[in-house]
Amino acid sequence: MFESSLKQLGDALRAKKISSVELTQLYLDRIATHNPELNAYVTLNPEMSLAQARTADERLAAGSAEALTGIPVAQKDIFCAKGWLTTCGSKMLHNFVSPYDAHVISQFNNAGAINLGKTNMDEFAMGSSNETSYYGAVKNPWDKTRVPGGSSGGTASAVAARLCAAATGTDTGGSIRQPAALCGISGLKPTYGVCSRYGMIAFASSLDQAGPMGRSAEDLALLLNTMAGFDERDSTSLQRDKEDYARDLNKPLNGLRIGLPKEFFAEGLGSDVAKAVEAAIAEYKKLGATVVDISLPNTRLSIPVYYVLAPAEASSNLSRFDGVRYGYRAPDYTDLADMYEQSRSQGFGAEVKRRIMIGTYVLSHGYYDAYYIQAQKIRRLIAQDFVEAYKHCDVIMGPTSPSTAFKLGEKGDDPVQMYLSDIYTIAVNLAGLPGMSIPCGFGENDMPVGLQIIGNYFDEARMLNVAHQYQLATDWHSRAPQL
Ligand code: GLN
Repeated sequence: MFESSLKQLGDALRAKKISSVELTQLYLDRIATHNPELNAYVTLNPEMSLAQARTADERLAAGSAEALTGIPVAQKDIFCAKGWLTTCGSKMLHNFVSPYDAHVISQFNNAGAINLGKTNMDEFAMGSSNETSYYGAVKNPWDKTRVPGGSSGGTASAVAARLCAAATGTDTGGSIRQPAALCGISGLKPTYGVCSRYGMIAFASSLDQAGPMGRSAEDLALLLNTMAGFDERDSTSLQRDKEDYARDLNKPLNGLRIGLPKEFFAEGLGSDVAKAVEAAIAEYKKLGATVVDISLPNTRLSIPVYYVLAPAEASSNLSRFDGVRYGYRAPDYTDLADMYEQSRSQGFGAEVKRRIMIGTYVLSHGYYDAYYIQAQKIRRLIAQDFVEAYKHCDVIMGPTSPSTAFKLGEKGDDPVQMYLSDIYTIAVNLAGLPGMSIPCGFGENDMPVGLQIIGNYFDEARMLNVAHQYQLATDWHSRAPQL
C-alpha cells in the first residue's frame, strides 16, 4: 500500500479492497513508528483524520467518490485548517487553532481527501533546511544526519518516508522544489495565481504559491486538479477555465525543445549534481527531445533581489502578529507598546527577526527608492529573460539545487550560504512561472539529486507530461529510503 500511486489507491478504495479508515490507520501507525525520529509532522489528530475517513467511506459506498476521496494527504502547517492547530512553524502561533479552512484545504475536503496531519516547516516558511522551525529540525529519511531542505521540509520528509500518500507545500523562493530535490520526491510550484493563497499564512504575497508534493508526476497532476481553482477571496487568484492537468501525461516528447541556461551550469554547481542532471538531459534526448543553449543573464541578480523584496513583504505581512489578535502574548509587560515588543521578541525566532529588520529597512523613507524600487525593476528584467528564452524553447531544465542535502547544523550560522541553496529556483518565483523538481539520480553520499523543469506561464500540463515521460523511462522516483 505504501508504494501505491494515488490512482492505484483510488482504484483500491473504489473496489473496496481497502477502506479509507483502514488506509488512514495504516498511515497513522507508520507515522507513530517513524515520526519521533524524523519530526516531519508537528500536529496529528487521529480522531479528526479518522472521522473524515469514515465520511469518505460513506461516499465511496454511495458511488460518488472523486479521484482523491479517501486518500490521506498531509498538509504543510502553513495552511489554516478548521479545528486544527496551525502554527506555521512558529512559537508565535503555538496555540492558534484555525477557525476556518484555507481555500486549498477546502478543495481537498470537497474532494473527500483525508487531512492526515500538519507537517513541520521553517518558521513562517523562511529557510532552506527546516532548521528554523520552533518545533525542531526535520531529518532527511535518506540520511538522518542531513537536512530535508526547506521550507516544506516536513512534507518532503513525510512523502519520501512514505508517511503519507502525498502532501502539500508552498514555494516563495524554492520551498517546494528544493526540499523535493533533497528528499528524492517530485514537487510542483504552479504559475502564480493558479492556487488561491486564501488561508495560507502569508510570507511574501507576490511570490507565495501553493503546490503539490508527491512521489510521481502522475500523482502531482491529480493533486493539482484538486488544489487549483479560482477563489474570489484572493485578489491575485486567476479566473481561468478548469483544466485537467493529467490530460497530456501520455504525449510523446518528440520535438520537445529543452532550453539549458548556461548560468545554471556555471561555477557553484556541485559536480555530482551536474553529472546526474546531464544524464537526465541525455535521457530526454533519447525520448526525442532536442537541446537549445539559452541564457538568462539577469538571474544572477535573483538572490539579492529576492532578499530585498521577500523581507519587505514579510515585514508588512508579519506586523499582524502583535500579541493581540493571534497566538502568543508575552506573560509580563508594562504597557501596550511593551506588550507588542515583548510578544514579538519572544514569539519570533532569529531568522524571522532578521527578515523583519531587513524588510523594514528597505521600505524606510530614504532607502525605498534605492533598494525596493530598484529590486522591482530588476525583477521585471529577470522575468523578461524568460520571455526571451521561451521564444527558442518549450521548457527550461537544470539543477534544482547546487548540492545534495547538507548536514544538520552545517549552514546554521551562515545565512548567506543558506540563501544560496535557492540560486536556481528563486528567479522562477520572481517571474511568476511554474517550476518543478523530479528525482534524477543520486550524488555524493548517495543523496538524491533533483532535476528542475521550468515551464512557460500556465504550462503545468506540459511540464507534468515532460516529467511523466521521464518517469516512465527511469525509476529514480520509485526509490525509497530504508528507514
Ligand atoms: N529558502 C527561501 C527563503 O528562505 C525560500 C523559502 C520559501 O520558498 N518559502 O526565503
